[in-house]
Amino acid sequence: MSMPDPRMIQLVMALRGGGVTDARVMGAIERTPRDLFVPERFDDQAYDDRPLPIDCGQTISQPLIVAHMTQALELDDRSKVLEIGTGSGYQTAILSRLARRVYSVERYRTLGQLAQSRFEALRLSNIVPRIGDGTVGWPEQAPFDRIILTASAPTRPDVILDQLKPGGIAIAPVDSGKRQVLMRYQRIEDGFDARELMDVRFVPLIEGEAKSL
Ligand code: SAH
Repeated sequence: MSMPDPRMIQLVMALRGGGVTDARVMGAIERTPRDLFVPERFDDQAYDDRPLPIDCGQTISQPLIVAHMTQALELDDRSKVLEIGTGSGYQTAILSRLARRVYSVERYRTLGQLAQSRFEALRLSNIVPRIGDGTVGWPEQAPFDRIILTASAPTRPDVILDQLKPGGIAIAPVDSGKRQVLMRYQRIEDGFDARELMDVRFVPLIEGEAKSL
C-alpha cells in the first residue's frame, strides 16, 4: 500500500464523527480516492465531507451520506446490486468493493462514460454500467439482492422495488415535496417494510434518457 493521503485520514475521521461504524464500509472508502471523481477545479475540496458539482448540473454525494447509505444496504460478497444514478461513479465504486456485482444506470451519457473510465482506472471489474432510464429499474437483470437510488423519487418507487428479491433491501431518497427522507425498504412476504433513516437532499430522479449531453 502507498502512503495514505492525509486528506483521506481527515475524511475518515469526519465519517467516524458522523456515526459511521462499519469497518468494511470505512475500508472501502479508504481505498477509493475521491479526487478521481470530482472535476479538476474542485481537487482542493475532494476530501471535504460535502457534495460537489459534477458535469450535467448534477452532484457527487456527500461522503457521510454515501457511507450511511452503504452501511444501511448490509452488503456482502454475494450481493447483486442495482444502483440508479451513477453520477460520478463514486458511490458505485464503494459498492463494488463490498458486493459481488453492481449494475448501475445513468441517464446522462457524459456522466456514464466518465464514470466508466474511472472504474477502468481503478480496475473495478465487477461494475456493469448502462446509459438509460433508471425509473424502470433493470428488468433484464432483476431480481436484485440490494437496490440503491441516488436521486430522489416523488413516492415509493414501486416499479424499481418490485425488482428486489424476497428479504432484499433498498435504500432510496423519497421527496414528498415537504421533506426529503432517506428510506430503507425491505421486501417481506406481503409487501415492504419501510423505515425512515434521515433527512437528505438529492437531485430528483428524472424520467427518460437524457436527450442532450
Ligand atoms: N451517487 C452519485 C450521485 C449522482 S446525483 C454520485 O455520488 O456521484 C444523481 C444522478 O442520478 C445524476 O447523475 C442523475 O443524472 C441521475 N439520474 C436522475 N434520474 C435518473 C434516471 N431516471 N435514470 C438514471 N439516472 C438518473
